[in-house]
Amino acid sequence: MSEAHTPPTEQDLDAIREGVRAVVTRFGDDYWLARDDDGEFPRAFHRAMAEAGWLGITMPVEFGGSGLGVTEAAVMMNEVASHGGGMAAASSIHINLFGPHPIVVKGTKAQKARWVPRLVRGEDQCCFGFTEPDAGLNTTRITTFAEKVPGGYIVRGQKVWTSTAQVANKIMLLTRTTKFEDAARPTDGITIFYTDLDRTKVDVRRIPKMGRKAVDSNAVFIDGLFVPDEDRIGEEGKGFGYILHSLNPERILIGAEAVGIGRDALRRATAYARERIVFDRPIGQNQGIQHPLAERWMYLESAWLMVMKGAALYDAGLPCGAEANSAKFLAARASHDACWQAIATHGGFGYAREYHVERLYRESAINRLAPITEQLILSFVAEKVLGLPKSY
Ligand SMILES: Cc1cc2nc3c(=O)[nH]c(=O)nc-3n(C[C@H](O)[C@H](O)[C@H](O)COP(=O)(O)OP(=O)(O)OC[C@H]3O[C@@H](n4cnc5c(N)ncnc54)[C@H](O)[C@@H]3O)c2cc1C
Repeated sequence: MSEAHTPPTEQDLDAIREGVRAVVTRFGDDYWLARDDDGEFPRAFHRAMAEAGWLGITMPVEFGGSGLGVTEAAVMMNEVASHGGGMAAASSIHINLFGPHPIVVKGTKAQKARWVPRLVRGEDQCCFGFTEPDAGLNTTRITTFAEKVPGGYIVRGQKVWTSTAQVANKIMLLTRTTKFEDAARPTDGITIFYTDLDRTKVDVRRIPKMGRKAVDSNAVFIDGLFVPDEDRIGEEGKGFGYILHSLNPERILIGAEAVGIGRDALRRATAYARERIVFDRPIGQNQGIQHPLAERWMYLESAWLMVMKGAALYDAGLPCGAEANSAKFLAARASHDACWQAIATHGGFGYAREYHVERLYRESAINRLAPITEQLILSFVAEKVLGLPKSY
């Protein structure tokens, strides 16, 4: 994300929407339904987005990116999620946009030159190994350990939910280099690496899950992975501070994606409500059908305003934690509710796969849970905005 960001004009954002739409609409409902059936990674879509140059939208220009801000990326991801691909489309490229942020902020020039252009061109795919089964949301309690050896580190531990690890060749790995009990503060002693996903030392097991089948999530077992010194990002033990940089952009982008899915569901519901005739009139003529849809539109559009506010603050270099978290919370809720209302509007047909709204509903649930849950966002806002005692 660029240091000095010039706020985009409405025309700039429209151009982004049009450009993204031109690629995304080549992959229709049938493509995404098939991926949801076979669980194959949407490679053709990923390749098309890389070839059109979208994967580097926030990456520095000198390393092949476009150097644009989170505002532009949010508009891009909103469009990506709005045309039937939902979270499968969004998640297949999402990590590219905010994931390399620790590299951009803390990486050396040599590291950036080695890693960023390959990500921008779609030649490398990166997964994120942060969450651990026994730590949950309390990241300071991770136990995956990187032991110092000559020339690098040997890593052992376990990650869970690592998305795209079936197809990724790189992993952004959060480890401890000082055990929790030996660290001066809970956030000390955490070190971040960006390295090869060496499958001779890393066992990746797919987790069967509710939705977004095309973008895998996994239990990852790491046993004796050698990571060279040159794959460590920034200083040893300072990794926790580095990941904080990428949290707000990630939440803003998830919010943008959630609104995209909700708008898609709402479009499908209103089209159906206009066409479906029961009791000799379109069902959309009934207030019991149209009022909930009107209400969902209001919630989605107000969530979008919060997404854009969070993005504008971030791009201006201003604090945006409350807005980024609220954007993610409001957008995920509004999106999930809109998807449910789309099912309800379709009646029994909403339950049929061929109308796609049940797939969007399942996918929209992810954003209420990950990368942070609703409860933790509420706790954050209660503490940081309302000044109530910390509860976690
Ligand atoms: C589809 C999917 C993809 C994912 N992809 C990735 C990925 O690529 N990389 C990665 O690292 N992780 C990934 N995750 C993990 C995700 O970020 C975590 O699931 C999420 O952070 C929640 O952690 P947890 O499941 O361990 O919940 P837990 O920490 O076990 O929490 C369980 C419940 O208790 C609540 N809770 C816990 N403590 C408190 C408290 N103090 N106050 C109130 N409520 C509390 C939580 O809000 C939650 O409702 C993914 C998850 C999913 C579902």
